[in-house]
Amino acid sequence: MAEYMSSQSSSSDSEFHNENTEVLSYEHLETIPDSAILRSGELVSLQLNNNDILQLPSSIGCFSRLVTLDISNNSMKKLCTELCQLRNLRTFVAKNNQLSSSALPKDFGLLQNLEVVNLSGNHFTDLAPQITELYRLKCLYLGSNRLVELSSAVKHLLRLEVLYLGGNQLTEIPAEVGHLHSLVGLNLSDNRLQSLPPTLISLRRLQSLNLHNNLLQTLPPQIVSLNLVELSLRKNPLVNRFVQDLVYNPPSLLELSGRVVKVEKIRYCRDDLPLNLVRYLDSAQRCVNPKCKGVYFTSRVEHVKFVDFCGKYRLPLLQYLCSPTCTTTEPSFCGSDSDTEDEDSARERMRRVLLG
Ligand SMILES: [Zn+2]
Repeated sequence: MAEYMSSQSSSSDSEFHNENTEVLSYEHLETIPDSAILRSGELVSLQLNNNDILQLPSSIGCFSRLVTLDISNNSMKKLCTELCQLRNLRTFVAKNNQLSSSALPKDFGLLQNLEVVNLSGNHFTDLAPQITELYRLKCLYLGSNRLVELSSAVKHLLRLEVLYLGGNQLTEIPAEVGHLHSLVGLNLSDNRLQSLPPTLISLRRLQSLNLHNNLLQTLPPQIVSLNLVELSLRKNPLVNRFVQDLVYNPPSLLELSGRVVKVEKIRYCRDDLPLNLVRYLDSAQRCVNPKCKGVYFTSRVEHVKFVDFCGKYRLPLLQYLCSPTCTTTEPSFCGSDSDTEDEDSARERMRRVLLG
C-alpha cells in the first residue's frame, strides 16, 4: 500500500520514458528553454523539477499536449494562468515550492483531466476551492503544508483514492470526508487531531489509515468495521490517560426523571406530555455496559473499551456509560474479551497499539 501511494506521487511515470518526453531536471534553469518550446506541440511530458524557475513562464501554455508536468523544487511562489490551457494534463507535480492557495490560477479547476496533483511541501493553509473542482482527481498530496483546516468541499472529490494530508496543523477532519467512497489510502499523520469523525465508517474501500503523531485519545468505535490492511497509531496519547481525565456532569432533575420513565418503561404519549418532553424521552441512549440496563440523555461518562482489531491490535474505542459508578471491575480494560487476560499480555498488546 505504501508503495502504491508513493509511486503515485513520483513523476517517474512511463510517460516520461518515451520520445515525447523532455527531462530538464537539475539544469539550473530560470525559465523554459527555447529548445523545449520548439517541441511544445509534441511533448506529452515535461520535467522541470530541481531548477531555479521562480515563476512559471506563460510559454507553458504552448505545451497543449502535456499529460504530465513536474515543476517540483523550484522555489516557485506563483503559477501563471496559462497553466490552465493544458487541458490534457493528468499528472501535475509541484512539490517543494512556496505555493499557497492564492498562487493557484483562478481557473485551475478547468484542468478537468487531472488525476494526480502533488502539492506537498508548499505553503497551503487551506484546501483551495479550485482543487475541489477537479472531479476526476484520484490522488491528492498536500503533505508538509500549513493546513489548519480542511474544507468540507473535499466531499466533491468523489473519485479520490489517495488523500495525503500528513505533516500539517489540522485539529479536526470534517465529517464530509465520509463521502469519499473511493478512498483507499488516507494519511493524517503528524497533525494535531484530537478526534476523528465517526463518518469514516463509510469509507468501505479504505485499506490504509495513517494516524501516527497526533493527539488522539480515542477512536470512534465504528473504525473496527473497516477492512484496513495498514493502520498506524504510534505517538498518540491513546492509552492510560482516559479514565483519570474523564469529566462528568451530574444529571439534571429532568434527566433523572427521564431515566426513571425509560427504565421503568412508563408509557407516555403526546396526549400526556408536551412535544418537547416526548422528543426528549425518545432521545434516550442505552448505556453500553451489558451489566447495566440503564439509559442516559446528555449526562454520560466517556468510557474507553479495548477491542481486538484484525487479531493484531487492541484499539481504544470511545463509548458512553450512564454514570461514573457504572463500570466493571477493571475500568481501563472493560469488556468481556479482556477478562481472562493477564497483565503482561495486556501490556504487550497495548504496546502494539502504540507502535502499530
Ligand atoms: Zn450504565
